[in-house]
Amino acid sequence: MQLKTILNRTQKFKSFVYGAVRWVEDAKEPMIEAELRPRSNSRPICSACGHRRPGYDTLPSRRFEFIPLWGIKVFFRYAPRRVDCPACGIRVERMPWSAGKHHLTETYAWFLAGWAKRLSWKEVAEAFRTSWDHVFCSVEMAVRWGRKHQDLSGIEAIGVDEIQWQRGHKYLTLVYQIDANCKRLLWIGKKRKVKTLLGFFRWFGKERTAQLRYVCSDMWKPYLKVIAKKAGQAIHILDRFHIMAHLSKAIDEVRAGEAKELKQKGYDPVLTKSRWLLLKRSENLTEKQQTRLADLLQYNLRSIRSYLLKEEFQLFWSYQSPYWAGEFLDKWCTKTMRSRIEPMKKVARMLRGHRPLLLNWFRAKKQFSSGIVEGFNNKAKLTTRKAYGFRTYHAAEIALYHALGALPVPETAHEFF
Ligand SMILES: [Zn+2]
Repeated sequence: MQLKTILNRTQKFKSFVYGAVRWVEDAKEPMIEAELRPRSNSRPICSACGHRRPGYDTLPSRRFEFIPLWGIKVFFRYAPRRVDCPACGIRVERMPWSAGKHHLTETYAWFLAGWAKRLSWKEVAEAFRTSWDHVFCSVEMAVRWGRKHQDLSGIEAIGVDEIQWQRGHKYLTLVYQIDANCKRLLWIGKKRKVKTLLGFFRWFGKERTAQLRYVCSDMWKPYLKVIAKKAGQAIHILDRFHIMAHLSKAIDEVRAGEAKELKQKGYDPVLTKSRWLLLKRSENLTEKQQTRLADLLQYNLRSIRSYLLKEEFQLFWSYQSPYWAGEFLDKWCTKTMRSRIEPMKKVARMLRGHRPLLLNWFRAKKQFSSGIVEGFNNKAKLTTRKAYGFRTYHAAEIALYHALGALPVPETAHEFF
């Protein structure tokens, strides 16, 4: 069987035919070139308006990279025609295999973008002997297409989260859809300011915003402010993952401070290796760790008392009625305020200040578990940290949409992937 036969079966373009297929001599690496020609008497299509127009002239032939075959690079070679379009002027014709300026065929770009969901961009570039830039262009193309064609109807629940990006205190705001039947990243914005989240609502539009029934977020003030202003009709829920994260952070602060203090006083460094014991949930500890924790608990240390307060707070989530959950919350806050442990008191004050929003979780019948936002948060961090080699915001944005956006792909993109 000839390569031309395979191409005619898998990549046939209306109004174009394959010519000679040849091995490229004197190339640095193995390379095959397949010639493309316009079908005789066919008139070119204007790339700007999409109408068939009279030909103007023919440009020198160019290469368009296609999916490699057995590790051998494959190119289409074609001399693009220019049209004399009464509406658009002199334009290059539309070529159905080429997405735009860069010289990758659309099929190859979708192929690379597909692999970039499973491997890092660097790995994809290495595996298919192409450049990082080509992988990036391909993913960018896939994201642009996907975001243009995605269906944004029926979104009732969203979650707002932030992740730290690059070093220092640089943040990205991420908005997810967290409905039971569809969970995906909807939008990314720079920083975590009022302006940032306003940007989301502007993009999302008034009509869709009016249909929102639930919004989950952290206790971050700018977010609370914007959500109250823009989506006041929705039940605003403070999500469990972020609340427990605040408690863990407080415990860590107490432990670090206390360990330092004890060391200065010359006591046994009992706390230095106990970080994970105190942060993990007790049922997730190994037997050995449980014994260690039992040892630790004999000391009446601030760290231990903080730990016990956090463990006790877990009970909060088990309530059914918002009323009793509220009663529990008040008691817990009073108790914690009396503990004289400043980082814990800070959390208690914060929880008290957001009591109605906290109880909304029970009003929403607990349908938004901490797992959704937490899972996305982890995946987003992994995506930005992974050695994709990007330093720019734009590249990070493209990578996140590609990994978490659940974006649609055209039917034809499935053929080779
Ligand atoms: Zn035109």
